[in-house]
Amino acid sequence: MRLICPLCGARDRREFTWVGAAELLPRPAPGGDLVAWLHLRENPAGPLDELWLHSAGCGALLRARRDTRSHATAGLVLAGGAR
Ligand SMILES: [Zn+2]
Repeated sequence: MRLICPLCGARDRREFTWVGAAELLPRPAPGGDLVAWLHLRENPAGPLDELWLHSAGCGALLRARRDTRSHATAGLVLAGGAR
């Protein structure tokens, strides 16, 4: 499987580390429901927005839409920035 980093181009999936669902961003405001933010996740069968770290590359935090049934990914974009 290859993922396309917007900074580095197409790379092997092994260069990337899965971070979690994109709903981790943004963090809740002080006094918000931190327990739900930390532990409650949707697990849909179908498209899901996720965060990936190009850990063996440029270090960019990326947002991707992945279909959990086929693992097809589309539209990796910068979620944070290069380190
Ligand atoms: Zn990269």
